Amino acid sequence: MRWLFVLLVLWLPALSPAQTPQVGRDLLQVGAATDQQAPVRACTPEIMARLQEPVEIDAPAGGWSGAPQAVDVFNIYGGEVMISHGDREVCGHMQDARTRDSRFRAGIGMVVVPRKGDTDPILVAWETPLKSRWIPTVRLGAPSPVQQIDTARLLVRTACLAVALALALSALMGFFTTRSRNFLMYVLVCALLVTWQAILSGLSGYPEPWLPLGRAAPVWMVAVSALSYAVMGWVLWRMSGGRRLLPASRRWVLGMMLALLVVALATPLMSWQVLGWTAAALDDLFTVICLVILLLAAVSVRAGRYTAVDGIVAVVPLLLMNLADLLGSRLLVEYRVEVIQVAVTWFLMMSAYSLNRGLGQLRQQRDEMRQLADTDTLTGLPNRRAGLRQLERYLRDAKASQQPLSIGFLDIDLFKQINDRYGHDVGDEVLVSVARTLEAGVRSRNDVIRMGGEEFLILLPGNSADHALPRLEQLRERVTQNSQALQHAGLLVTASIGLAELEPDDQDMAALLRRADNAMYRAKRGGRNQVVDARDEQQIA
Ligand code: GH3
Ligand code: MG
Ligand code: MG
Repeated sequence: MRWLFVLLVLWLPALSPAQTPQVGRDLLQVGAATDQQAPVRACTPEIMARLQEPVEIDAPAGGWSGAPQAVDVFNIYGGEVMISHGDREVCGHMQDARTRDSRFRAGIGMVVVPRKGDTDPILVAWETPLKSRWIPTVRLGAPSPVQQIDTARLLVRTACLAVALALALSALMGFFTTRSRNFLMYVLVCALLVTWQAILSGLSGYPEPWLPLGRAAPVWMVAVSALSYAVMGWVLWRMSGGRRLLPASRRWVLGMMLALLVVALATPLMSWQVLGWTAAALDDLFTVICLVILLLAAVSVRAGRYTAVDGIVAVVPLLLMNLADLLGSRLLVEYRVEVIQVAVTWFLMMSAYSLNRGLGQLRQQRDEMRQLADTDTLTGLPNRRAGLRQLERYLRDAKASQQPLSIGFLDIDLFKQINDRYGHDVGDEVLVSVARTLEAGVRSRNDVIRMGGEEFLILLPGNSADHALPRLEQLRERVTQNSQALQHAGLLVTASIGLAELEPDDQDMAALLRRADNAMYRAKRGGRNQVVDARDEQQIA
């Protein structure tokens, strides 16, 4: 919380106006006229040497109309793209915004304006694709609609990143409040998948390159995807209940993660061809992982572990995506990056859900255990431990607010004889009956405590001894009355109660409890079945 406050304070100078703009009169001008030329987007001989034979996009029959044509190229998994027409030529790659036409962000695009009747084709070339299944897509059309589709794709890509970042942030908050390590792991998973998505979508270069990948982008892409597959496989394995279903599979999962880590570390050493094979093999491996996860989750659900449904829901979009890839779906070819990002974001959402639910269950179990630890099993009253905690609270409040606080220490008279004469079961019945009687006579259920055996403590916050005395007298009478309703011939239950009030000199509850206890023993000595006020005792002493 403290650092949040510091962060807020640091922002305060931004609020001070340099000069107050007048509504209706002023114009806020931002930026200045420039003499800079547009950034160089040259196709150097070095780039040209890496490109494959260009693809020709032919002019329509009768030649170009003279209207501007947008050309937008998608799905180049790393590497340069060249678009040219006539003497115009641009090169660029996904991760470097400075080399690209600012009107296109999801693909590498440009607008050409062929002369009317011109029949020169538009040439498009790219480097040898790293993944053979990633078929490059070229969209041609009027600039405005092509830009709109490009922007829509950019929005889907950024939205996926934004969701992942929001989930990571919320998990970070979760970690600060719960200190659960699982949240921290989740933040790391998010960070990895955000990096992967950023490289994949080219957003690592937007608005300026913020990940210095340069020519190494494809290497990074393969390395980060290997790590992402490892981490997603591990999370899915946990979600699908694999950890409980097959405890031995833990070794396999860890082994696989280690192997993928080694592959990721080895990517910088790989030639372009080996990198391509590795990328394809990783995709196939992940398909197999998803299938295994689906199987594991299904078996877990059949075995009655219904939380494994999370695993199924998380993995199905990933599997559908892989299936569409195998079947050569046109939609997947065209919108591959978006589909991957949506499936990965879905996975992140489901794992956040699963994580929070798991934590909720743990919290519930903890609450139940705490409740059990604080409750007396026979009577259901708070036990000594919980009761003293409550008294401590009342004591603090009473001192702070200068309100009186009284307590009554009750001990059932000759209870041993009841046990001996009627049996232990009837003894228990009496204890429960006394508990209910006392409970009914106080404001809050937590104000009657079973201190042990046949001893009860009655808390009367806000009551001076003068007020408490008649209330305790009444309770003592009701204990006897209600025990008669138990209908055991000749059974008469009476109780002795010691009353004590908090005094200004009391440092803690020990003295208060001691006075109440002494008063109770005085009641015993005085013939039982009575309430004795500790103040009388003090006077006699
Ligand atoms: P006094 O009037 O002096 O308090 O006599 P007493 O017999 O009540 O006092 P004592 O402390 O000698 O006896 C308490 C008895 O309470 C002894 C024990 O067997 C019985 N007791 C303690 N816990 C339970 C319980 O949970 N159930 C039953 N039935 N008896 C219990
Ligand atoms: Mg006793
Ligand atoms: Mg007793």
